[in-house]
Amino acid sequence: MNTCSIAIHGGAGTILRSTMTAELQQQYEQALLEALNAGHSILAAGGRSLDAVAAAVVSLEDFPLFNAGKGSVFNNTGKHEMDAAIMYGDGLQAGAVCGVSNIKNPVLLAKAVMEHSGHVLLSGKGAEDFGRAQQLPFEDDSYFYSEQRYAQWQQALKEDVVQLDHTVKKFGTVGAVALDKQGNLSAATSTGGLTNKKFGRVGDSPIPGAGTYANNDTCAISCTGVGELFIRSVVAYDISCLMEYRGLSLKEACDIVVQHKLVKIGGEGGLVAVDKDGNIAMPFNSEGMYRACRNTAGSTEISIYR
Ligand code: ASP
Repeated sequence: MNTCSIAIHGGAGTILRSTMTAELQQQYEQALLEALNAGHSILAAGGRSLDAVAAAVVSLEDFPLFNAGKGSVFNNTGKHEMDAAIMYGDGLQAGAVCGVSNIKNPVLLAKAVMEHSGHVLLSGKGAEDFGRAQQLPFEDDSYFYSEQRYAQWQQALKEDVVQLDHTVKKFGTVGAVALDKQGNLSAATSTGGLTNKKFGRVGDSPIPGAGTYANNDTCAISCTGVGELFIRSVVAYDISCLMEYRGLSLKEACDIVVQHKLVKIGGEGGLVAVDKDGNIAMPFNSEGMYRACRNTAGSTEISIYR
């Protein structure tokens, strides 16, 4: 195997041409291209898919318009509580964090959990303490503040809705999947979760098998959508199982899960996926999904709408 491929997303939802300005669209497309290049340059140089997905997600976390890292939404108490996971298909290695604040790049904390903690999922203050011990960068609350996110939170507070209702319309989680030249698959996902979320709510993103999954025998997947429904559907693992046990192609497995099983229970969203041969799928059942990929032939796609 001497090929590589990568796909990334910046969230799914009701993303309509009619509500987008040309300037904003250009900003999103540029951010997607930069993240894609950050990941692909590692793969092209023979690097690990694990490092490629981490680099792509760091780039997306640093872009303020996506709901991850810097652009994370406000929770009910006016804080930013982030979730992230990374998984390496070689030996099913995984690391994840949930409910963490002030860490600049949650995906790097998830990667450190995988590589250095001996555990899979760390939460809240304990995860932050581990990040400090690993000397990862932290930022003040002001780094995560944006007027747009604050206004969204105030609106959600006023209407007393958890963003699950309010933002059934838009999920800005970010993620990446990749196959490297050694045949190893990786997936990473990072999110601020839902605006106005309460009581330590955790979504699908940091849960291996739900929002993030990688298995060298099948595929790597990163999801975005209503986390509760993605957890209940065990979306990422289900796609892997359909491939492993029923011999379906990546596309067939994705179609069944995203366009049928999820739709049946009202699970809006989508995902990016790559299989062990480098085939890419980017299915979604919402109006749009910020997405980009570069396949084994080196051709690039950047898309937003259906
Ligand atoms: N899946 C994420 C969550 O439920 C939300 C998103 O995709 O934006 O936390």
